[in-house]
Amino acid sequence: MTKRIAVAVETPQHTGVGVLDYRADTELPPGTLLRVPLGRREVPGIVWHRPGDTEVADEALRPAGPALAALPPLGEAWRRLVEFAAAYYQRGVGEMALGVLPPELRKLDDVQLARRLAKLAKLAPLPAGEAPEPPPLTAEQAAALATLAEGTAPALLHGVTGSGKTEVYLRAAEQALERGQQALVLVPEINLTPQLEARFAARFPGRRLVSLHSALTPAQRLKNWLQAHLGTADLVLGTRLAVFASLPRLGLVVVDEEHDPSFKQQEGARYSARDLAVWRAHDAGVPVLLGSATPSLETWQRVQEGRYRRLALDARIGGGAMPRVRVFDMSRLPRERGVDAPALAPPVLDALRERLERGEQSLLLLNRRGYAPVLQCGECGWKSGCPHCSAWRVFHKADRTLRCHHCGFTERVPRACPDCGNQDIAPVGRGTEKLQEQLSELLPGARVARIDADSTKGVGALESQLSAVHAGEVDVLVGTQMVAKGHDFRRITLVVAVNPDSALFASDFRAPERLFALLMQAGGRAGRDAEQAARSEMWIQTWNPKHALFAALKRHDYAAFAASQLDERRSAGLPPFSHLALLRAEAKTAEVASAFLDAAAALAEGIETIGVYPPVPPAVSRVADVERVQMLVESASRPALQRFLAGWLPELHALRPAHKGLIRWAVDVDPLAI
Ligand code: ADP
Ligand code: ZN
Ligand code: ZN
Repeated sequence: MTKRIAVAVETPQHTGVGVLDYRADTELPPGTLLRVPLGRREVPGIVWHRPGDTEVADEALRPAGPALAALPPLGEAWRRLVEFAAAYYQRGVGEMALGVLPPELRKLDDVQLARRLAKLAKLAPLPAGEAPEPPPLTAEQAAALATLAEGTAPALLHGVTGSGKTEVYLRAAEQALERGQQALVLVPEINLTPQLEARFAARFPGRRLVSLHSALTPAQRLKNWLQAHLGTADLVLGTRLAVFASLPRLGLVVVDEEHDPSFKQQEGARYSARDLAVWRAHDAGVPVLLGSATPSLETWQRVQEGRYRRLALDARIGGGAMPRVRVFDMSRLPRERGVDAPALAPPVLDALRERLERGEQSLLLLNRRGYAPVLQCGECGWKSGCPHCSAWRVFHKADRTLRCHHCGFTERVPRACPDCGNQDIAPVGRGTEKLQEQLSELLPGARVARIDADSTKGVGALESQLSAVHAGEVDVLVGTQMVAKGHDFRRITLVVAVNPDSALFASDFRAPERLFALLMQAGGRAGRDAEQAARSEMWIQTWNPKHALFAALKRHDYAAFAASQLDERRSAGLPPFSHLALLRAEAKTAEVASAFLDAAAALAEGIETIGVYPPVPPAVSRVADVERVQMLVESASRPALQRFLAGWLPELHALRPAHKGLIRWAVDVDPLAI
């Protein structure tokens, strides 16, 4: 008996949704993994639940290859999620489905997989220790949990660092586990998983917990994924890719730091794991908790509209408070022409010295790594540009290199100016390396450490640097936004934002929202308990002391900041009051890329529900000798935008051959960085 089956496969996008018909001799339920011929290759596929696109007669269908019969089929809910994500982010179903499975799964045959499964079945039962007595809930935590249990609308758990959000996640997870369900917990950063994993493992000693993130070995990722899929793991903790874990008994979804941009995938299928988590929970009829001190304005607006519930944790556990915020007006500093402003204002230096005397720690936030962002020749004006990008190469003093942070192009620092031979080429501006160096001079004897992408390259480097901070071996910690996130420092009583101004005037309309979140998060590193809070301060060094953002920060007033941002967004017709898609084009020349976008825009003409902005270069337009141009498409209606995109993309595929020299194009739905 021959059956016609639809199989999701990774096809080049223009061949349709990526579901093709094959013939099979055995019953293969939807969700079965198998191999099928595609062109001259054999590729992995998944039996899908809908007819394929193929318009061929049964007799002409190609036979499907061997199935991974040992693996229980992927469930209907999982396939619905994939199908939704593919449609929403304008990708093929097959591409989406296979792209989010552990890569190892596509390599194994049925025998190899059966062997892995047999090994898993033999996993020893856990070393079932006594679960610790959880702390009694605060009134706010109890109220949050009670409200969560009442309804099904997504819930924003709104509270600063140390307000007890994780304890609420633990209790909500406990309830799901007691109902015999699985809990999925998403965090923005791989670095934050071990910390959270340890807390969950300690709370649920008898339960199996697995993590899913891109730093796992392929074998480990498959093993963990299988445990979630088989239902033997009760808790799944991971970064954005974990939103696609197969969870047959899903009972709770948590998204910690829901505002964090790293929940958005920035290549391939550019999905938002936060948004998919909300969709998935809704589809499964289970609660979803979005935790943040500074919710994304999308989430906050939904709270205002009554579509999401807000569970407030207004107080820090143990009587802590946010540190007092003080703003220093940098224009008050006397300044010589051509000389960089000092790294730190006098009252900030005093504050640092006070901490040193008291044996407390300080955190200095500077979102720019390297020694100096550019080298310049004092004679002829030469600057250390990257020959391949429209960007400066950054001076790294430690290894005396000039490095491009966009394409990676690295050279030794020249001895003299390449243009005029002048020996006096000097760094301009300041990065974390230089700040660290200057601090060692300004604060003799202080132990100054630096944590950024450069200092943490080696395996385990971040962990060892963090533990040095925790152990009190560091007095002053200099770092990029990496250090502002999540890490539970207990000895910090001073936080300094060294130079936060650039975000105030960035072309990206989300820059102020990000800066506010970053500063709140950094501030949250200090003042964890009442005693510490009394001595905690946060200093902002700025040339724009009157800016509304800093005024709101001083009052720790997220709501006021959000309201003013939402007003601006409303009048400018920006998200969350409109919906965006970004079409990016890359070519050897900007003309070719722009011509493609112009042709794409012409296709959208006359469609009333859609607005198309003129093509513009992004902030860094040339990277690795490729020119980039982008174009925003906007609509007041999400469904209208979706309908438009679904029709537009096939037309863009058809358009492409006419644009010689076009290297790549891609559409980003709900883009975060524009
Ligand atoms: P957040 O996730 O908001 O940063 P946590 O849940 O980590 O907050 O709580 C901060 C600290 O307070 C942690 O050390 C935690 O163990 C403790 N804590 C949380 N809830 C309570 C509670 N109800 N009683 C006592 N301590 C608590
Ligand atoms: Zn010169
Ligand atoms: Zn470059």
